[in-house]
Amino acid sequence: MQYDHIVVGGGTAGCIVATRLSEDPNRSVLLLEAGPDFPDFDQLPDMLKLGWGTVNLEARAAGSPYNWSFTGRATAEQPEPMPVPRGKVLGGSSAINGQTFIRGAPEDYDTWASWGNEGWGYLECLPYFRKLENDADFHDDFHGTDGPVPVRHHQRETWPPSQEAFFQAATAAGYPFHPDVNNPEATGVSLRAENNIDGVRMSMALSYISSVRHRLNLTIRANVQARRVVLEDGRAVGVEVESGGDTFVVEGSEIILCAGAVASPQLLMLSGLGPADQLQAHGIPVAVDLPGVGQNMRDHPNVSVRYMVKDDVPQDPNGMRALRLRFTAAGSDTPNDMILSPASLNTVVRDDNPAHTVNCGLYLAAGKGELRLESADPHTAPSMDYRYLEEDWDRERLREAVRLCVSFLQHSAYDGIIDEITAPTPADLESDESLDLWLRRNISTSYHISGTCKMGPDDDPMAVVDPQLRVRGVSNLRVADASIMPDVVRANTNVTTMMIAERVSDFIKAGE
Ligand SMILES: Cc1cc2nc3c(=O)[nH]c(=O)nc-3n(C[C@H](O)[C@H](O)[C@H](O)COP(=O)(O)OP(=O)(O)OC[C@H]3O[C@@H](n4cnc5c(N)ncnc54)[C@H](O)[C@@H]3O)c2cc1C
Repeated sequence: MQYDHIVVGGGTAGCIVATRLSEDPNRSVLLLEAGPDFPDFDQLPDMLKLGWGTVNLEARAAGSPYNWSFTGRATAEQPEPMPVPRGKVLGGSSAINGQTFIRGAPEDYDTWASWGNEGWGYLECLPYFRKLENDADFHDDFHGTDGPVPVRHHQRETWPPSQEAFFQAATAAGYPFHPDVNNPEATGVSLRAENNIDGVRMSMALSYISSVRHRLNLTIRANVQARRVVLEDGRAVGVEVESGGDTFVVEGSEIILCAGAVASPQLLMLSGLGPADQLQAHGIPVAVDLPGVGQNMRDHPNVSVRYMVKDDVPQDPNGMRALRLRFTAAGSDTPNDMILSPASLNTVVRDDNPAHTVNCGLYLAAGKGELRLESADPHTAPSMDYRYLEEDWDRERLREAVRLCVSFLQHSAYDGIIDEITAPTPADLESDESLDLWLRRNISTSYHISGTCKMGPDDDPMAVVDPQLRVRGVSNLRVADASIMPDVVRANTNVTTMMIAERVSDFIKAGE
């Protein structure tokens, strides 16, 4: 069987690409997913279905059946490997994630375009952001109301006490309130948008694939792991896969890798497309020397400020995250590079001590990490060195964010709520040096790995794909997922990945 398109990986991007390409009944589309598929909503396990409260955290826990359970290195001060969850199920990471639905800043996409990625400026991406969403609350030129992904916000009358206190502390400190977080002008406190309806996590398997499963030109094969792309005379002609313990080659006129920012670069390297020295070290014949594969690894370094609540404060079983604060660090020329996100649920962060948290995130870090192939065996995970906080500028901005957060928690709005701020301690806050040490010991991933197969123009030697997302040096092969971002965006990465998938589908349909 020869397919027109083989989509490798049924995560955020893969579900969308398979849905859009199969709109044309003359195209045959095969969607391959390494994890399971749950076509019947009633059979969907609760940990995938329910996106609020502690259940929200179960699927992402290390060892969960729907998590690849990768690990990475955060900093030298952390002896233990850092868990790096990625979804392994139809829907991918969108099936285990936190459902925060936030676009990048307009400047993010304009920066991509200014680096030679023609067609990726904010105004060119905007129609795709509108196309993919159905926002129930904001109806204007920036929003869509008939896309597949439902978007909701928690209105003030529903906020638990700790969310209300955060709002009061932040606005008292002078930050403006812009309710629509996806408005291009928004800064300060906003309502956190989420793709969740009445507690159900609307993964891309639910919001896109569930309504197109009947299409005869769309074949979905779960529990099939791709091993490599098969190349012939500089062309991609198929994919070698494992299914039920056997190995097969499936043929396709075009292969689209949507395996995510960990597995897409790994699959390229296993196929002979990557840094020549790394491939040779593992005995993989070099088809095209692409030094950028696995480099430029981006994320949002994140640290949680934690506090215990007083006994009589009502517990919020849903763990509402109604708000977020975006602000620009002192001296920064990149607006909204910092985000504080309060959560109203007792969560266990790193030990057995449950606490409420406010996440402090560096949303445009200067530092970058690296992903490297560890073996020619597709079952051995690549290594990921995040190299967080090696840049002075990153530490300086994160110190500011943590101190701001602690000052909020000391505002009178929290008087009846907080028993004790448990982390950082007053000793941690004493000096820049002590706070830096605390940051290095506690910094973690926001789960927003991206940039490991970056898009770029012909004259960028580190570009892996061109602005139509075609892999350089080989035909009939594209990468379309979070890995192609030239730089991470100043927001959680799911919506931008959706936009990328919508765009590549149009490139392919237009024959570009
Ligand atoms: C725990 C967690 C919480 C997050 N929270 C948020 C949030 O609240 N908001 C937000 O915007 N972003 C969030 N993110 C990030 C967001 O979900 C990702 O950026 C986005 O899903 C990436 O999409 P993708 O298509 O690139 O990869 P994925 O969605 O990870 O899809 C990759 C797919 O490829 C499959 N695959 C991998 N290797 C192979 C192979 N060899 N063969 C076949 N299939 C393969 C995987 O199983 C997976 O289904 C979170 C991520 C995680 C892990």
